[in-house]
Amino acid sequence: MTHFPNLFSEGRIGNLVIPNRIVMPPMATNLANEDGSVSQRLIDYYAARARGGVGLIIVENVQVDYPQGKNVACQLRLDNDKYMAGFFELAEAVHSYGTKIFMQIHHAGAQTTPGITEGLQPVSPSGVPCSFLGIQPRELSIDEIEEIIQKFVNTAVRVKGAMFDGIELHGAHGYLIGQFMSPRTNRRVDKYGGNLEGRMRFPLEIIRRIKEAVGDDYPICFRFSADEFIEGGITLEEGKQIAKMLEEAGVHVLHVSAGVYDSMPTLLEPSRFEQGWRVYLAEEIKKVVSIPVITVGVIREPEFAEKIIAEGRADFVAIGRGLIADPEWPKKAREGRSSEIRKCISCNIGCIGGRVFPNLRLRCTVNPVAGREGVYGEIKQSPVKKKVVVVGGGPAGMQAANTAAKRGHQVILYEKKQNLGGQLEIASAAPGKAKIKWFRDWLEAELLRAGVEIRSGVTADAETIASLSPDYVILAAGSKPVTPKIKGLEKENNFVVQAWDVLAGKVSVEKNEEVVVVGGGLVGCEAAHYLAEKGAKVIVVEMLSDIAMDMEPISRFDMLQQFAKLGITIRTSNIVSEITPEGVVIVGKGGKMGFIRSKKVVLAVGQTPVGNELKKALEEKGIPVRVIGDAYNVGKIIDAVSTGFQVACQV
Ligand code: SF4
Repeated sequence: MTHFPNLFSEGRIGNLVIPNRIVMPPMATNLANEDGSVSQRLIDYYAARARGGVGLIIVENVQVDYPQGKNVACQLRLDNDKYMAGFFELAEAVHSYGTKIFMQIHHAGAQTTPGITEGLQPVSPSGVPCSFLGIQPRELSIDEIEEIIQKFVNTAVRVKGAMFDGIELHGAHGYLIGQFMSPRTNRRVDKYGGNLEGRMRFPLEIIRRIKEAVGDDYPICFRFSADEFIEGGITLEEGKQIAKMLEEAGVHVLHVSAGVYDSMPTLLEPSRFEQGWRVYLAEEIKKVVSIPVITVGVIREPEFAEKIIAEGRADFVAIGRGLIADPEWPKKAREGRSSEIRKCISCNIGCIGGRVFPNLRLRCTVNPVAGREGVYGEIKQSPVKKKVVVVGGGPAGMQAANTAAKRGHQVILYEKKQNLGGQLEIASAAPGKAKIKWFRDWLEAELLRAGVEIRSGVTADAETIASLSPDYVILAAGSKPVTPKIKGLEKENNFVVQAWDVLAGKVSVEKNEEVVVVGGGLVGCEAAHYLAEKGAKVIVVEMLSDIAMDMEPISRFDMLQQFAKLGITIRTSNIVSEITPEGVVIVGKGGKMGFIRSKKVVLAVGQTPVGNELKKALEEKGIPVRVIGDAYNVGKIIDAVSTGFQVACQV
C-alpha cells in the first residue's frame, strides 16, 4: 500500500522529473568552510536529507558577488571557477540517492552588515535601510546594477557546470532581487524603478540573460515573497502580477514564500504560527499561472502535506526546518511511520535565528546530530553492553536514555514525577509554545521503542541506584528556581510566586490585576506573557538594559510585538530592592527609587542546578557518574539534548 500517494507521486519541473513532491528549501547553515567553499560537513548534511528520501534539494544561498552580497559568516560562494569542484561533489552525493538538486543564487543587498561584507557598506536599489539590522545601505548605480546581473549569469553557468539540475533565483525575503521588486525599497526613477514593469526589470533581465547562457530548458525556479507583510511592500495582489510576469519570462517553477527582514516572523515563523498558515499564498498564485508552484512555511506533518497536493493547492511542498529536525521525514512518511517523525518545534534556536545569524554553525534543538552528520550520523553500537541508570526524565535525561539504549545498553530511567518531560512540560505551557509538547511526546515514544525501562513517580536515592549495580549513572536531575535575597522575602507570603508555578497553571489572576515580574529573561517574559493573556496588567522589572537578551532574536522580535499589543510594561535598568503586600520598591540608575503597585509578584531571577548530593553519594559508592543538562549547567533545551546525546555516545 502506498502511503500518501499524492505526496509520493512524481512531479515535473520543465522537463525534469522529480521523484516525489517533497522539496527541501534553501536554509542558511554556516556549514560551508570559512572561505565559502563546500565543506565535507555540508556534503554530509545534505546527503543525509537525500538519503532520507526528499525529492528535490534546493541548496542554501550561494553568493554571486563576494563579499558585497554576502549575508552570513560561512556562506557558500561561486563567484569563481575554483569553487566548482566542491559543488560537483555535493551534487554527486545528493544524486547518489536519486534526489535532484538545485542551487539557490543570491545577493543580500541591504540585508547584511559591514561585519559580514568585510567592511563594505551594504547596497540596495534606493538606500532604504532594513530596520531589523539598522544599517544604512547605499544606492547602486546603473553600471553596478549591470555588473551584478552579469555576476548572477556567471554563477548560474557554474552551477550548471557543477552538474546541478537547476537554479533558484532568490527574489524573496527582501534580499537584493526582492528589494528591486518591492515598492517599499525601490524608489528609483530610472529604468530599474517606478512602476511594476520598472521594478521587475532587474529580475527579468537576470532571467533573460541566464537563459541565454544556460539554455532555455535548464530549470529555473524563482523564489519570491507573494506578500511581504509590511506597509508599502508587495501585497498578494501584486504578487499575482509578478507571478504572471515570471511565467512569461520562462521561469519553470515558482517558490512562493513571504515576508522580509522587517516582518521577520512571517518568513521564519516562531512557534506560535499554525501549521501551513501561508499555503493560501501559493494557492492564490497557482490560480493565475500554469507552471508548478512550491508552497512553504510550517508544514510539519505528512497528512497535512498530502492534503495540500491532493487538493491541488500547490504542486510541491517544501519541508524546511522539518528536515533539519528529522532528515528521515520523507522515508518515515512513505513507510507509514509518520508518528515516528521528530517534528520541528519552530523554536529557531538551533538553526537560523539562534545559530546562523550569530555566526555559529547550524544545530537543532530536537536533533542533536544536525550539522554534524559526519561525526554522529550513525549511532554506533557499544562494544560492551552496560547497565546504565539515568536519573531525571527531562530533555537531557530522556535524550541520554534513548541514545544509550540505541547503542545497545540496558537502560533504566528514573523520574520523580508521574509524568516525563521536566522543563519541556513547563516550557510548552508558555503562550504559543505548545509545539514543544510534540518533542516531549516523541521522546517518550522513542524511549518505549528503544526498550528503556521507565520508573516514574519514584525518587531514586543512592541506595536504590546502588542496589541495581549499574555500570554507569547519568544524572540529569535538572534545576530549581532561585529565590533572591530581597527585603520582604524573608518570610513566606501568599503574594509572591515563582514563574514556574505561573507556567504550571498554579497561579490565577483577575482581570486588570496588577502583577510585577521580577526578572526579564526568557522565563520571566514567558510568565509575563502568560499572565497578560489572562488579563493581568503586567510590569516586567529587569536589571539589565534590555529584556530577553537570552532569547533567539526572531522569537524575541515577535514576542516584543506581542508585548506591545498586550500592553505589558517593561522597566529596564532597575532592581527590586523590597517587596511588600502593596507592591515593589525599585532602584534605577543613579539610585533613583520608585514604587510599583502590585497585588502579585512573580520571581524569575534564574535557576540553580540540583543533584550534587546524589552525585557525591554515588561516587562514594564507587559508581561512575556524569552530570548533564541543567543539573550540570543551567541552559536551554538544546543544550540539555545535546549533552544528553553526547554523553550517552561516550558510555
Ligand atoms: Fe526546528 Fe528548532 Fe530544530 Fe530549528 S532548531 S529545525 S526551529 S526544532
